[in-house]
Amino acid sequence: MGEFDFIARHFRPLAGPGAMELRNDGATMALPAGEELVLSSDTMVEGLHFLPDDPAGTIARKLLRCNLSDLAAMGSRPRHYMLNVSVPLGRHYDEAWFTEFAAGLAADQKQYDISLLGGDTTGSPSPLMLNVTILGSVRRGQVLRRDGARAGDGVWITGSLGRAALGLQIRLGKLATGDTSLVEAYRIPTPRTGLSLYGIVSAAMDISDGLLQDSGHIAEESGVAITLFEEKLPLVPEVAAHMTTHREIILLGGDDYELLLTCPAASEDALQAHCRQHGVPLTKVGMVTEGKGVTMLDRQHAPINFSRTGWQHF
Ligand SMILES: [Mg+2]
Repeated sequence: MGEFDFIARHFRPLAGPGAMELRNDGATMALPAGEELVLSSDTMVEGLHFLPDDPAGTIARKLLRCNLSDLAAMGSRPRHYMLNVSVPLGRHYDEAWFTEFAAGLAADQKQYDISLLGGDTTGSPSPLMLNVTILGSVRRGQVLRRDGARAGDGVWITGSLGRAALGLQIRLGKLATGDTSLVEAYRIPTPRTGLSLYGIVSAAMDISDGLLQDSGHIAEESGVAITLFEEKLPLVPEVAAHMTTHREIILLGGDDYELLLTCPAASEDALQAHCRQHGVPLTKVGMVTEGKGVTMLDRQHAPINFSRTGWQHF
């Protein structure tokens, strides 16, 4: 039983058109006329991005969904993905684990209409490392970017904040509550695919490292300042209930995979109508102004001083 049998058993059933059943050195991908390729890549490392005892199926789905979220932020329709897996030898990542992992991939392939194009599998002395490169397409020149925010634009986010961050706290034993929906939000994010925001929003990205830090990326790329209002942030009741004890984790927490958008006043109606039409909750949380940096104002409109800015990768 070598690498080839392993790939054949678990990954060949996931292969789509262009993958040629994973029997060649590479794959092909066709693009509709007038569209260009959009690529994004995300790596998940055991112990950093997921816990060793998280269910294999949800790890698979989160891996795909982080990547799907990046394509959503680019305004791109997802089509295929490449998968690279480095498996630590002699651990619990066995046949049964990968059967469940592949079933998770299969479920989301169906849900998001994507398929596997290829990848690589190796053994490794390191923790389990999973990498997906996702391939999508967009009408040529119509990709969404981070550098278009202008003073006077509103700052908007989809969905709600803090559920995944609290879910992680529960998994780490730092928050005791019987609310399993928070852990579920941590394990299986909901990428905002399927929206068509080109020509409506001025800048876009997805919130993976926390609202404050990610707003900083748009501010910096666009050469503007952003002011966020704590009182405007959309929090579901299960999250708001923990604001007195876990405020900073809720306000800075990562893993939301919601969209962070800036929108000129003239397009606000179009933005709201589009999101309503797609059943995506949308909230205006701040303003773009001239200047630099990101400020979050508390309910008394005083700047909040945080002890950190958000998730640090290094
Ligand atoms: Mg991103």
